[in-house]
Amino acid sequence: MKRKMKAFVCRGPKQFSLEDVEIGEPEIGEVKLKVLYAGICGSDLSIVHGRNPFASYPLIPGHEFVGEVVESKDASFRVGQLAAVMPVVGCGECESCHLGNVNRCRKVKLYGVHMNGGFAEYVLVKAKNLIPF
Ligand SMILES: [Zn+2]
Ligand SMILES: [Zn+2]
Repeated sequence: MKRKMKAFVCRGPKQFSLEDVEIGEPEIGEVKLKVLYAGICGSDLSIVHGRNPFASYPLIPGHEFVGEVVESKDASFRVGQLAAVMPVVGCGECESCHLGNVNRCRKVKLYGVHMNGGFAEYVLVKAKNLIPF
């Protein structure tokens, strides 16, 4: 049986509810982060109201969050470590990405905007997007 978690799911403009969602398993290079805190940003409100053109529904919003690693498929993180999430994910292949300017990548994706984010009990996050503390 697949394990489930509570998550704030936005299915479209002004369509949101707390749902039971499959947790999923981290791929190589990812960790499963147990969310400890998540901030509510103004752009989260625009996603909920359908005014963010980048939001892809259905979506678990939340791009400002910290948590504890509960499963790791990356050698640089171990279970129990605390980390903050840098939510911007570049394609890794373009000039901007190679220069370290991931925010300028034309194929940029954000946790909580293009991909599921932190308004959930757990999030699968790429280890390179984690900042340990
Ligand atoms: Zn924000
Ligand atoms: Zn890129």
